[in-house]
Amino acid sequence: MCFARPGAAAALGATEIAFADGRITALAPVVAGKDDPAAGLAALPALANAHDHGRGLRTVSFGARDDTLETWIAALALEPRVDPYLRAAVAFARMAESGVCATNHCHNTQDPAHLVDEARAVAKAARDVGIRVAFAVPLMDRNPFVYGDLARLREFLPPDRTGLVGSADARFRPAREALAAVDAIAEFEHELFAVQYCPVGPQWVRDETLAEVARASAETGRRVHMHLFETERQRRWADAAYPGGLVRRLDEIGLLSPRLTIAHGVWLRDDECALLAERGVVASVNASSNLRLRSGHAPVARFVGAGIRFGIGLDGMAFDDDEDMLRELRLMFALHRGFGGIETLDPALLFRAACVDGRRTVVADGGGELVSGAPADIMLLDFQAMAEDSMDGAISPLDLMLTRMAKGHLRKLIVAGRAVVLEGRAVGVDRPALESALLEEARARWRDSPPRLEDTAAIQSAIRRFYECGCHAEMPPAPAKGRGKTP
Ligand SMILES: [Zn+2]
Repeated sequence: MCFARPGAAAALGATEIAFADGRITALAPVVAGKDDPAAGLAALPALANAHDHGRGLRTVSFGARDDTLETWIAALALEPRVDPYLRAAVAFARMAESGVCATNHCHNTQDPAHLVDEARAVAKAARDVGIRVAFAVPLMDRNPFVYGDLARLREFLPPDRTGLVGSADARFRPAREALAAVDAIAEFEHELFAVQYCPVGPQWVRDETLAEVARASAETGRRVHMHLFETERQRRWADAAYPGGLVRRLDEIGLLSPRLTIAHGVWLRDDECALLAERGVVASVNASSNLRLRSGHAPVARFVGAGIRFGIGLDGMAFDDDEDMLRELRLMFALHRGFGGIETLDPALLFRAACVDGRRTVVADGGGELVSGAPADIMLLDFQAMAEDSMDGAISPLDLMLTRMAKGHLRKLIVAGRAVVLEGRAVGVDRPALESALLEEARARWRDSPPRLEDTAAIQSAIRRFYECGCHAEMPPAPAKGRGKTP
């Protein structure tokens, strides 16, 4: 059985898919015998993970428990420093084993001084695992810890701990250096690895830097990847800091273009969605992450109404903490198809998001469908296992998959014509061995340089109180006459 465009075109029967030089050359009907090893399998276009961070170590494993994004982020500092290759290869192999052929890797540096070396390791992991990776180079130059005044945050820390929050400037490398790193990292580009700009989010990046990114992207054609309105606190901060509207400001800066991907967009309003759609901006909906980090639900109906194209992202926060993109599709469908008879998301749109539009945020090759000429990125699912108890002809295969599919059903993943997963296991790397090595290294680091858990807890508590008091919506006194209020 073959789903060339799942939900949008009728399923084909037994089909032979021929490919050469990484592209599909023909699809032809075949007569499959019962003993054929392909009998009972369903072929679909492979999936794209439109937003992720590629951390091999899951965040709860080092104490960043699920909580509001703002408190959770402070605990990310607890992540033990590990070999950047292991970190990325484990993450990519797990993704591949759930049908992901392409991922947006919004890189979190373990050490900004070694960003370029980390990128080299990620490029090697992409090649070894065999999936397509867009490496988004992080740029941050304002608002560490909280959106607003660090002096206010210090007021909520015990007097002997105020030093934990240093000055903002001391924490960031100059934007120019980070932009130069993008060019250095571009040296590692290969068939499966490309570089993008990642102003991490408007609350963390100065307007001047965003403008530089917009210029650089227009010049080079490289994509830009940015978190936007993930949380209600970001919304409140932006409404106070940009009375004329943050999204409008981003447009003035020149950042809104078809080259931009925004992650989350949970708190976007109607007029903002209309503008983003007009500019051809693509969104990534990250349903599991939005639940686990208490952000809310993305306004998918609003996206659809406005005509915003969107992909689906795991954000390293799959609901079962297992990087299962197939389950993520089902969760996305359940949360956003519409309640009480309202039809927002149908299977055709769900798969277009997962296979075509999300993919555009990683690679511009027109892929995501099983048609002649398209990139040979194909996943084979064990449909037989899903259909074990169903009566002949009782339910459509697609409905069954949308009820049951999960990573355990993946038999094979082909990317650019190469087998990347066979019998459910990554073949380019030994994923279980890499996982063991990663854990061993992380545990050794945790033992040898124990993290200061009490310091993290104190910072988290101060952050909570900072937002409870509404400090993020308090803006500094207006600048001198004749200047705008925007920072
Ligand atoms: Zn993210």
